[in-house]
Amino acid sequence: MRSFLLAAALGALAVPAFAAAPATAPADPLRAGAEAARDRALSDPTAYDFVESLTTDVGPRLAGTEASVRARDWGIARLTALGFKNVHAEAFPVTAWQRGAESAEVVSPHPQKLAILGLGGSVPTPPGGIEAEAVVFATYNDLLAAPVGSLAGKIAIVTQPMVRTAEGSGYGAANPIRRSGASEAARRGAVAYLHRSLATGESRLPHTGALNYQKDAPRIPAAALSVIDAELLDHMAARGQPIRIRLKLESSETPSQSWTVTGEIPGAVHPEQVIIVGGHLDSWDPGTGAIDDGTGMAITVAAARLAGGGHAPRRTLRVALFGAEEMDFSDDAFTAAHKAELPNIVAVGESDEGADRLWALALPKDAAKLPEMKTLATVLAPLSIYVSPEPSRFGGSDIGGLTMAGAPTIAFHQDASRYFDWHHSADDTLDKVDRAQLSQNVAGWASLLYILANSDVDLHPAAAPAPAKP
Ligand SMILES: [Zn+2]
Repeated sequence: MRSFLLAAALGALAVPAFAAAPATAPADPLRAGAEAARDRALSDPTAYDFVESLTTDVGPRLAGTEASVRARDWGIARLTALGFKNVHAEAFPVTAWQRGAESAEVVSPHPQKLAILGLGGSVPTPPGGIEAEAVVFATYNDLLAAPVGSLAGKIAIVTQPMVRTAEGSGYGAANPIRRSGASEAARRGAVAYLHRSLATGESRLPHTGALNYQKDAPRIPAAALSVIDAELLDHMAARGQPIRIRLKLESSETPSQSWTVTGEIPGAVHPEQVIIVGGHLDSWDPGTGAIDDGTGMAITVAAARLAGGGHAPRRTLRVALFGAEEMDFSDDAFTAAHKAELPNIVAVGESDEGADRLWALALPKDAAKLPEMKTLATVLAPLSIYVSPEPSRFGGSDIGGLTMAGAPTIAFHQDASRYFDWHHSADDTLDKVDRAQLSQNVAGWASLLYILANSDVDLHPAAAPAPAKP
């Protein structure tokens, strides 16, 4: 992969300027334009410069906080400087959750500090903290099997590991442990909840993320343990001695607002027809939000510019920097604000799984049969990306509402094997961005966006040709 990218990048640079104009017009201008956008992407610095500036000049940026105001202003300035038109911020209400002082330790059998991060949305503990006996469950199903009342006065702990997979499915499978564990523990009487971080690394840094309290359960404080500390508690539990733990969390919540920043490259022929792509501007507080999701915005912004810059595309390319993905607010707000545009939405897509290499593209049902998408498959092949025979189902958390409403959804699959080593932790920083793989992402997205913006292809399922009769 790297040697191909390097060769392609060097090859592009080595072509003398006079060789760029072919003696005869290319047989397929759509393919030639997409290939040119793809090849320019491999040496284009826009995406890396975007994430380098965001992580250095803005830093962590939880929705609704003072940092999210700086992120909004940075986003508007950045898109404007990159030449996007109609740049503006769309405000919507959020509950701003903020972390305070946090600590956890084993009190007995002997004192031992634990590395934790409170979960986003967690209520605080009482000011003096909570000290209670721990009950350790090796799996989430073991917690669910515990009878109601059996955890009265206890701290429930789930130590189930998350499985590393190439496409990130281990995260989805483990998600209820973080999302629902606190309410399930509370229903059974627990006074606090801890779980092994949804993470694949062996670092002692914990990984945070949002929880969802269910209405019918008491709201108890909840935090993620580092992988290493969860394993320590497994070993302690195996000794059969009682384990007492003290937990202190000082989080707070305030009504606030956040913003999704958008910008456009207006279409010259069908300006009302719009392709919407982006990533999310908000990030968790311990790191600098480089791979989640600085790179997602960087990839789609750079790709849109390569696909639509320098000439007027037929259709409008719109980039969206979604303002509150992590706490689940931007999807509903964006859907409500843009539902009226639905008949004119050509496609929606989101990049939110880091910046490691793309390996497949999923399109709406039957769209892979369209001639323009066959051309796209040809353009993507040298990047080692294939068009999946499986239709896209989910394109990203911030476009879920538009997908459900029927907007044609595009979804690149990318290598997520390393992503959950750093995701939602203090290790989500710029040094994790592999520049060659970042460029391959931009090249894949630029190829796709070029064809969507410079053709009249219709990705709605009804538009695909009917299967040939036998
Ligand atoms: Zn994300």
